Amino acid sequence: MVCRHYQELDAFVQEAKKKTGEGKVADYIPALAESGQDSLSVTIYHAENTCLTAGDADRTFTLQSISKVLSLALVLMDYGKEKVFSCVGQEPTGDPFNSMIKLETVNPGKPLNPMINAGALVVTSLIKGHSPKDRLNYLLGFIRRLANNQEITYCRHVAESEFSSSMINRAMCYYMKQYGIFKGDVEEVMDLYTKQCAIKMSSLDLAKIGCVFALDGKHPETGEQVIKKDVARICKTFMVTCGMYNASGEFAIKVGIPAKSGVSGGIMGISPYNFGIGIFGPALDEKGNSIAGVKLLEIMSEKYRLSYFLKHFLS
Ligand code: GLU
Repeated sequence: MVCRHYQELDAFVQEAKKKTGEGKVADYIPALAESGQDSLSVTIYHAENTCLTAGDADRTFTLQSISKVLSLALVLMDYGKEKVFSCVGQEPTGDPFNSMIKLETVNPGKPLNPMINAGALVVTSLIKGHSPKDRLNYLLGFIRRLANNQEITYCRHVAESEFSSSMINRAMCYYMKQYGIFKGDVEEVMDLYTKQCAIKMSSLDLAKIGCVFALDGKHPETGEQVIKKDVARICKTFMVTCGMYNASGEFAIKVGIPAKSGVSGGIMGISPYNFGIGIFGPALDEKGNSIAGVKLLEIMSEKYRLSYFLKHFLS
């Protein structure tokens, strides 16, 4: 698939790019610090299999937290809402993604939602398979179907870098294990979780996955219902309430679309007009969102009237 370079989008990228200097590339996972500070690219993938791009769109990047929506979709389809929501809640926290404070103060041991690290670790521990290898292949197979790209795999370098430095995530697993919420083997789940976060793709792959969500789980190219309709709806709702970390409220006001970001600088957005958006801009704001990526979405939302909360979507 060749994406058309789109001049108007390019102008928006140039405008948003001015923000990159105010952000900072994540370095708490050492390998992420190797990304360039001032890069920004975007791809838009529409249901009719057309595609527009601007910026350095050939670059690949790791999903990090964006993967949390995809693992959630998989386990919701395998286990159903009741089982999944008995282990993880449905409320935003207002805290940073790696905070553990509410694990102790609210419903001890049960994470508030699947978009924060504690909740995502529980979700990953539920991924089905007879062995760690099986579980990884099962997740990768699902993500390859979502992007309709069999080449997708994880970046070993980033996965190993996070695996050897993730002590807070390990601490949260043990804490939840004490309360019987987390049932897996901590090291095995950490291995799968870090590989999940290190799954690597281009903004085109990401935009295509966004388009699957925009079409309520149906794939624009293959026509396959890859995600059940109800599960796609739940995932999109989580993206609105907690997809942009503890800036989700402000993002809902300024942009108004379901979106999920990751500390690599990726953002997946879902437009009400049947298209998905994939963004990569590694410089982050203080909440962990791509600083120029958010600016770009603000510009696009204003220009193309993307907010789900505008009246014309209700009539
Ligand atoms: N792998 C990252 C972590 O667990 C994901 C965080 C993120 O992208 O928000 O810290």
